[in-house]
Amino acid sequence: MATVTLENLKKSFGRTEVIHGVNIDIADGEFIVIVGPSGCGKSTLLRMVAGLETVTSGKVFIGGHLVNEREPMDRDIAMVFQNYALYPHMSVFDNMAYGLKIAGRSKAEIAERVAAAAHVLQIEPFLDRKPRELSGGQRQRVAMGRAIVRKPAVFLFDEPLSNLDAKLRVQMRLEIKQLQRELGVTSLYVTHDQVEAMTLADRMIVMNEGRADQIGAPLEVYANPQTVFVAGFIGSPP
Ligand code: ADP
Ligand code: MG
Repeated sequence: MATVTLENLKKSFGRTEVIHGVNIDIADGEFIVIVGPSGCGKSTLLRMVAGLETVTSGKVFIGGHLVNEREPMDRDIAMVFQNYALYPHMSVFDNMAYGLKIAGRSKAEIAERVAAAAHVLQIEPFLDRKPRELSGGQRQRVAMGRAIVRKPAVFLFDEPLSNLDAKLRVQMRLEIKQLQRELGVTSLYVTHDQVEAMTLADRMIVMNEGRADQIGAPLEVYANPQTVFVAGFIGSPP
């Protein structure tokens, strides 16, 4: 079971509340996109799910378990960031294997999992290369591979394509969607790009200044925006 539930989730930095109480029940295998302008709280929300930010109040459940007090390593999640965060001095293989080594997996299991992920992502020819010897798209696939090998219950993406040029962004978007369908892993994906959100989401959370203004399927949100903000950001022209 890889449901994710957020219950009246709030976050303050000092005295400033930046997330004002977000509620959502995410089904097993669902692809949820958190979309909104810069500074609206997308990353903060995702980082609370990941365990990279503490929760000020409210609850995060993953697979039915309350995880507020759990370390990121113990949450059954894997995160893909915008800047890839690959280790420059390590080969592609070692970058993908790193998390599994830390987790104490056997050499045989690591080799098998990395090979399987490399096959899915079509990066088998690059396993001995260093990140600097790869294109932007290839690096992004390695970052995906590092998440896949851990076989997490939930993928968390924070603007993973923003550093790529427009053409590659569209291509990688399709690849991510295809991969998520094949693997069936519950996913939360953050972007400021409305088109990306519309393309990827089963349901999207439209965020506005720390609130979920609307949650729904892309076409539903597009056709029936519930607030003036959503209408301006996503909605169909009047
Ligand atoms: P987004 O990802 O949508 O661009 P963020 O979640 O990064 O937005 O930021 C939401 C708000 O929280 C912003 O006003 C930002 O300045 C503030 N914020 C984020 N991280 C911190 C932090 N570590 N300390 C103080 N304020 C922060
Ligand atoms: Mg952000």
